[in-house]
Amino acid sequence: MSETSRLRVAIVGAGPSGFYAAAQLLAIDEPRFSVDLFDRLPTPYGLVRAGVAPDHPKIKSVTRAYDKTAGHERFRFFGHVELGADLSRGELLERYHVVFYAIGTSTDRRLGIPGEDLRGSHAATEFVAWYNGHPDHSGLEVDLRARQAVVIGAGNVAIDVARMLALAPSELAVTDTADHAIEVLNASGIEEITILARRGPLQAAFTNPELLEMGELERADVEIERGELDPLSAAALPDADKTRTRNVEIIQDYARRERAGKPITVRFRFLASPVELLGDGDGHVRGVRIENNEIVARSDGSLAARGTGETEEVPAQLVFRSIGYRGQPVAGIPFDDDRGLIRNDGGRVVDENGAPHVGEYVSGWIKRGPSGVIGTNKKDAQDTVDKILEDAAAGRLNAPVRDDIEELIAERCENAVSWAGWQAIDAVETAAGARSDPQRPRVKLAEWDALRSASKPRVER
Ligand code: NAP
Repeated sequence: MSETSRLRVAIVGAGPSGFYAAAQLLAIDEPRFSVDLFDRLPTPYGLVRAGVAPDHPKIKSVTRAYDKTAGHERFRFFGHVELGADLSRGELLERYHVVFYAIGTSTDRRLGIPGEDLRGSHAATEFVAWYNGHPDHSGLEVDLRARQAVVIGAGNVAIDVARMLALAPSELAVTDTADHAIEVLNASGIEEITILARRGPLQAAFTNPELLEMGELERADVEIERGELDPLSAAALPDADKTRTRNVEIIQDYARRERAGKPITVRFRFLASPVELLGDGDGHVRGVRIENNEIVARSDGSLAARGTGETEEVPAQLVFRSIGYRGQPVAGIPFDDDRGLIRNDGGRVVDENGAPHVGEYVSGWIKRGPSGVIGTNKKDAQDTVDKILEDAAAGRLNAPVRDDIEELIAERCENAVSWAGWQAIDAVETAAGARSDPQRPRVKLAEWDALRSASKPRVER
């Protein structure tokens, strides 16, 4: 196939899904694809950079595989170029055979209870982005003079948030936590962190290593409240999957543990839902009114939480709402508002009647919802890539009318960042990391201006 007859693919979103799809497409000999990967940030890697907890460097080493993809001769990176702001969906369709959305789910699900927006109540998504140096969130005001914090939700993000609040300065110093966050976290006065789970230990969404890690923190003891299995969960336990069964064992083990007298307590409080965040009269949160739940069986056999009507107040000067991420619609792309996802059928973008949008595909959290670990996106991307191949074979791809994306971007986005530009940012960050602590992987540039100027290194004379 000649240079000009390559099938051009625009992937929007340089997180795991985008990179896996790029690698899979570039590995195909026939038809031959070229991939342009766009991201609204000047930096690649999506949630690997802005979501994965800074004290989990091993998880982040997955970027080495993405770097390999970026080195492919038919790959280009266009960072700091935003779909819906700098470029429209229509402009991409004029230029590419395939437009592939891997834009993730960038915002939080709301609780829908009174007091949710009091000062001191944060979406976990924002807090995570703040400590990870996301330039949109570096200005978040997090007041950690609080003594008690409540984290709502029983997933791995809730665990990350609780653990980050409990880390000792020596544990933080060797991570790539943003400097602004290290300063605030080191001055924290937090003594109690309550993780609030609306259902019981068997239904918690934690994974085992993350739950075990809570029991090994230098500064925190773990406590369990209402962790006994209710009769329905006890009956379901023998048929539960390995992760959930092991979660129950770990939680039961924590419940039996003696306190070691560490300065912070992380308390897992099961079977309770927040019904209101309480204010102190000055617009700041002072506590969470919770309602105790019981477990009931739904008609499909799944086990749900039902309020008992019995309420109590948990004092908290800080609240993190960690009940899941949600996608944001982009102009012109069909969106399922109930689920917060791009409307799709197995990766093909479809309208509300199920008719495919020719040439438009989707993968990752914005396709299936915010679930699974990083590796889950590999299989998910492959499923969509298979659909692209089927459509290519059937002559059902989009027919672009021009091939001038570089000119368009040069005209519109003076700060667009190439892969070399990202490598320049990376060099600045890693050098600063080494200066700060020999074990620190990087000091992140967390401001837009700093990222822009680092992406355009001066030529040495
Ligand atoms: P998640 O795993 O879906 O957990 C969300 C939690 O919020 C669930 O416990 C859910 O309870 C609860 N919840 C939902 N609505 C609620 C409400 N109205 N009131 C009270 N609780 C409510 O989501 P996540 O923690 O945001 O994580 C997203 C994905 O990223 C997950 O797949 C996670 O494993 C992954 N992740 C992995 C790692 C890691 O591997 N280290 C780290 C971070 C995130 P119900 O079950 O009752 O609905």
